[in-house]
Amino acid sequence: MEKPIVVIRKCEAYNREKLTKIFLEGIEILNLKDRIKENITIKPNVVLAHPKVAPSAYTRPEFLDALLCALEKINSHPHSFFIVENSGTGVPTSKMFKRAGYNNLKKIHRIQLKPYEESSKIKVKLQKGKVHSEINVQKEIVERDFLIYAPKLKSNVLSHGLTASIKLNIGILGDKERMLFHDFRLHEKMVDLLEVGYPDFIATDAIEIAMGGNQMTEHSLDLGVVIMSSHPLSHDVVCAHILNINPENILALTEASLRGYGSLKIEDIKIDTDIKLEELKERTATRGTGFLKVDVLDSPVKVVSGESYCYGGCNGIMLDWLYMLKDRAPQSFKRKRDITVIIGRFKGEVESKKVILLGDCTEVEGILKAKKIFKIKGCPVKHKDIILHFFLKTFIRAPLLRPELLMDAYPLLWWSHFKGWIKERLKI
Ligand code: SF4
Repeated sequence: MEKPIVVIRKCEAYNREKLTKIFLEGIEILNLKDRIKENITIKPNVVLAHPKVAPSAYTRPEFLDALLCALEKINSHPHSFFIVENSGTGVPTSKMFKRAGYNNLKKIHRIQLKPYEESSKIKVKLQKGKVHSEINVQKEIVERDFLIYAPKLKSNVLSHGLTASIKLNIGILGDKERMLFHDFRLHEKMVDLLEVGYPDFIATDAIEIAMGGNQMTEHSLDLGVVIMSSHPLSHDVVCAHILNINPENILALTEASLRGYGSLKIEDIKIDTDIKLEELKERTATRGTGFLKVDVLDSPVKVVSGESYCYGGCNGIMLDWLYMLKDRAPQSFKRKRDITVIIGRFKGEVESKKVILLGDCTEVEGILKAKKIFKIKGCPVKHKDIILHFFLKTFIRAPLLRPELLMDAYPLLWWSHFKGWIKERLKI
């Protein structure tokens, strides 16, 4: 059997001509030319884009511009291009497209930007789902001739340190379905989604990657490559190696391999590269992914974890919140407070000035001494809620708590959903 191919090409800057050439070469090597026709759907990663606090963790518009240039050169008949996404829970995707600079792409290419909230959805039944039996995805994901994933290579503590092509599938869901099973079962959820979100071509923006902190606010690192494949698991295995993670330690990858999506062994992948993998590993080794258990992080508050440990749920989201402070408010991160955060069912004694019980399942079996006790609800708690409640109850201000992002998170998100509701009724 032929080995799946992963192509890596050096590219130090977002140069349109060079990138276009690289994409055309990748498509040629992967033998995809004849399959690229008519309705082409592109799914980038735009969880959050903001020039001050989230400048590096989304797929850059220059990258998509060059990708579109390459696709336009293939076959002479006209294509329809759709860019689909559902940004992070609680922010309107249309606003994130704008902040990411995607609206400018409409001036250069014949594309349609399709934010999840404002698009028609199709219910799809899953044949092999372990936790999902059906999901609602954008029409353009299902009714397409060619599906392209264009992730940003970055670290993510909610998924054992890696965000690449398989994790990108979380963004094909609406907010409610997105949070379902986003707990200790996140790996099963991600692999369920491969049944619908299985890209024909992956082109990863690894020119400027983001690493070592919160998935939205972490700092950039120049890696200077483009990674391409038509095989999601092999692509992610190579990405894991580049970030110095053993693929066997990433549950979503082991789950995908167990379900027959491919091998975790690098020897089973044909890597066509013009730069040594070791060189890329050396570059990322300077940073680390930041993935660890939240209770061992030296942080401004004490965190204790009970059962169960939800790496993809409250424990992971708490860790992500702490990294947000570390990334963009380091002075606040260094200041210690007499606050204890409890996550899950905890047995033992806790004494602190303030105690925060995080998540619906959290309870203490034992002695709890505190002047004030608060609960933040959710299973899991949302980033948006943790940011707001920590500010109101402990006065710790997360860097994302900014007037313009509050406008996005509340009135504009509501407006975006309302527009979607109207469009659905009018069948626009
Ligand atoms: S509420 Fe409990 S089960 Fe749900 S994600 Fe949080 S810690 Fe996990």
